[in-house]
Amino acid sequence: MALSSEVILETLLEVQAADLVADQLRHRRESIPERALRADQLRALAALDEEGRTTAVRFHDLDRSQRRQEDEIAAVTAKITDIDRSLYSGTVSSPRDLQAMQAEIEALTRRRALMEEKLIEVMEEAEPLGVALAGIEEATAVHQAEAERLGFLIAEAEKAIDGELAEVTAGRDALAAGVPRDLLVTYERLRARLGGVAITRLEAGRCLGCHLALPSGELDAIRHAPPGASLFHEECGRLLVR
Ligand SMILES: [Zn+2]
Repeated sequence: MALSSEVILETLLEVQAADLVADQLRHRRESIPERALRADQLRALAALDEEGRTTAVRFHDLDRSQRRQEDEIAAVTAKITDIDRSLYSGTVSSPRDLQAMQAEIEALTRRRALMEEKLIEVMEEAEPLGVALAGIEEATAVHQAEAERLGFLIAEAEKAIDGELAEVTAGRDALAAGVPRDLLVTYERLRARLGGVAITRLEAGRCLGCHLALPSGELDAIRHAPPGASLFHEECGRLLVR
């Protein structure tokens, strides 16, 4: 059954009302407050990750250096023990050799003391970094949990909005089925260009889309147009319903 042109335009107004509700729902979906909060959490996590990486690199450098120095100290200690053992073994009897060995033990002991001082410096430098790494790990866990919680809330809100959106869209499509194809195409094109409002009522000589009063000549032409003619407000380009 073909609808009369008046009914078609009234239907198109209803289609537009549904489209505007759908636009609002989509906007609401985009601007779910938890979305911005979750983005903050993800930014914090990225910063922590960066900080963690840099700190870990420095910490592991110091850790490697500490182990190398410990090995070197152990090697010097072993050498001292070796010389010490031969010194008291009685196999060396020349006083000159014994004196030389004694001198070497003293030199090695001095060297070891310097190495131990350096080792302590490295350990002192590494300690706060280790503490910082633990702190970063802890903070990361807190932000991750919060991001997860917000992600859950976003998904819940999206689900609710999507439900509403599906309902509105189904109603809109049912209405749009009663509007001729070419009129719908014109409507969509105008809607995209005119901020979502393509069709509007003409009331008391005023276009309700742009709120401008129509000049009397244009009003006259609209009044005398045949039924079913597509009428547009020349100023804003919107479809008008008499
Ligand atoms: Zn207008």
